[in-house]
Amino acid sequence: MVTPRWCSMMALRLVDCGFSVRKFTQRLQRLAMAPEDIDAVLLTHEHGDHSGGVARLCANHGIPLWTAIGTASAILDAGYEFNMLVAGRSVAIGGIEVMPVTVPHDAREPLQFVFHQIDNGKRFGILTDSGHITSHIVEAFDRLDGLLLEFNYDPQMLETGPYPPALKQRVGGSHGHLSNQQSLELLRKIDTSGLNCLIAAHISEKNNSPSIVAEGIEQLADVPELVFASQEEGFDWILV
Ligand SMILES: [Zn+2]
Ligand SMILES: [Zn+2]
Repeated sequence: MVTPRWCSMMALRLVDCGFSVRKFTQRLQRLAMAPEDIDAVLLTHEHGDHSGGVARLCANHGIPLWTAIGTASAILDAGYEFNMLVAGRSVAIGGIEVMPVTVPHDAREPLQFVFHQIDNGKRFGILTDSGHITSHIVEAFDRLDGLLLEFNYDPQMLETGPYPPALKQRVGGSHGHLSNQQSLELLRKIDTSGLNCLIAAHISEKNNSPSIVAEGIEQLADVPELVFASQEEGFDWILV
């Protein structure tokens, strides 16, 4: 899993960490950053590609962890301290207001986020690991300045690809992941006129290809040039 990140001039927030602390620290070095620069970690849900390194990273470096109680109960040891996130209830972390958004995914209490930078009014959304687009998601992710969006699979590639039947069903199910079509559906439903940054993320290496994603995006008006987040390289700093 790539490591989406949200940065202000003063502080660095990290969303999820599926890597070991060692591997994650190496990846931070590519961005000229260190774990000490992170002042909050937000965890979306307990699946390993998002949570794998979170508890140790926070414990090793004294970083506050923010997550839903359902997610915490799935992966944290009893007594591990965390700050509770509640869907629909925004919290200010540093100069950023974080709005946790409920999504349909096969985890205990999965959340995705919309960030609102208080000093300049910019809004940036992160939406991955969602089985379909709900009207709640459309409302929450409307009129953003930047969006990191899952384009997990092409339905035909998933159907004919190497996954066993049960996994195909899970990924393509209503609590699995967003297909290219479902993500395009979201982009058609929200007002993208102010969107100046769009990142395609959580792209399956087996069931999708960036060229198919790009073809779909080309059919839309009012959408900025697409940035691809790759599993190996992540993506470079972006300006929203
Ligand atoms: Zn995931
Ligand atoms: Zn997941």
